[in-house]
Amino acid sequence: MKKSIGLFLFLCAITAHAEKLSLVGGTVITPADGKVMPNATVVINGDKIERVSIGKQDASSLGKQIDCAGKFIIPGLIDTHVHFFQSGDLFTRPDGADFNSVRPYKDEVTWIKSHLDDVFARYIRCGITSVVDDGGPMWNFEVRAKANATAKAPRVAAAGPLISSVSREKLDLGDPPIVKIESPEQAREFVRKLADKKADFVKIWYIVDQDHPIEAFRPIVRATIEESHAHNTRVMVHATELETARAAVEEGADILVHSVLDKPVDDAFVKLLKDRHTILCPTLVVFERYGRVFSHQLNLTTEEQSWGNPEVIASLDVTKIPQDKLPDRIKSALADPKTSLDRIKQTYDVALPNLKKLEDGGVTIAAGTDAGNVGTIHGPALFREFQLMKQAGLTDMQILQCATVNAAKLFGGPVGAGLGQIGEGYLADLVVLRSNPADDIAHASDIDTVIKNGVIYPADSILR
Ligand SMILES: [Zn+2]
Repeated sequence: MKKSIGLFLFLCAITAHAEKLSLVGGTVITPADGKVMPNATVVINGDKIERVSIGKQDASSLGKQIDCAGKFIIPGLIDTHVHFFQSGDLFTRPDGADFNSVRPYKDEVTWIKSHLDDVFARYIRCGITSVVDDGGPMWNFEVRAKANATAKAPRVAAAGPLISSVSREKLDLGDPPIVKIESPEQAREFVRKLADKKADFVKIWYIVDQDHPIEAFRPIVRATIEESHAHNTRVMVHATELETARAAVEEGADILVHSVLDKPVDDAFVKLLKDRHTILCPTLVVFERYGRVFSHQLNLTTEEQSWGNPEVIASLDVTKIPQDKLPDRIKSALADPKTSLDRIKQTYDVALPNLKKLEDGGVTIAAGTDAGNVGTIHGPALFREFQLMKQAGLTDMQILQCATVNAAKLFGGPVGAGLGQIGEGYLADLVVLRSNPADDIAHASDIDTVIKNGVIYPADSILR
């Protein structure tokens, strides 16, 4: 008797999971080939897309029908650069601006760990059904496991602690997100430790300054990449100067994160990235946010104000901090906001044309925000990133490609191979929009319904 109840429950679970449903009569947009298909039907069986058909369909083959007439269906969006160990609030990077006297960093991390379900849901609310965590403490891998076991959470691929030429003591609570590596052998040893944790990526923080010239750290970059590739793990490199980025790609970096900010990229650099199939993730939004927060010039988008965590957003008003507890960096930014804004403009004057040149040159660009950094809001920051990509001169369809099919390539692995497209056999991660994002990428946030892993979430119900 007991056995048959067990079997009955097992069969119920299978049936619930394998329920067939169809999105009927919407306009399906497939950024991979730039097609816009009106009056289409997407049939979903369990967690996968069974087929996409055009025109009137035989109702008996559709399962539960969801009327999508007048709506637009795109693949689930992917943010390929976030950090779950950072909240986006004012206190999250004490190495940049130390507020330990206002809120101890230990308390900040405790808060972050206790709000993971909240941050996961905010990604789903924004139609972001997969994200890449570009590095953090070893507990990043627990975040990945938690997300991948949670229905209302994005799929997560993750890097562990960053391999760097510099250390950041203020972030070190015993499990540091950034680790100073001093020899190629030490790098190899650390990569093996990351491989044991099944890191999806190894991340290098290639910081260059007077004390740390490009060539000094290059043997460590080389050893890290060699050892990572020997473990079939791809390497992402933070490199924001042209020559640093070039060195990283020459050494075999698979992914460059952030843009080149110091000078215009040259043709040889564009060709190098294209020939080596290096993916670049520009993270434009993060470049304006530290400066705007610190100088009290923050202008969050409507999406960020609506769907960002309210506690995080409230913390970003630096004028609420007692004067005697303000770090000097913020005191000077407050005294002279124009300098902060000018610096942001100078950054974009280089970064935006560079993005356009790389896109035109055929380099694979994956959308990403660096969310979690001060003022870069987990979830909706991606819509600000889209605005900046458009300002750079990318078309609406190119931006959709960057945030779906290209981002899926960056995500990688067997899961990445099932992401970013609408077609037979792909994972059923979709966003149903009320207006057409191929006409204007701003419509990508006009979200009606989010579908992740074949489960439907009416957008307005997600954060309730
Ligand atoms: Zn980052």
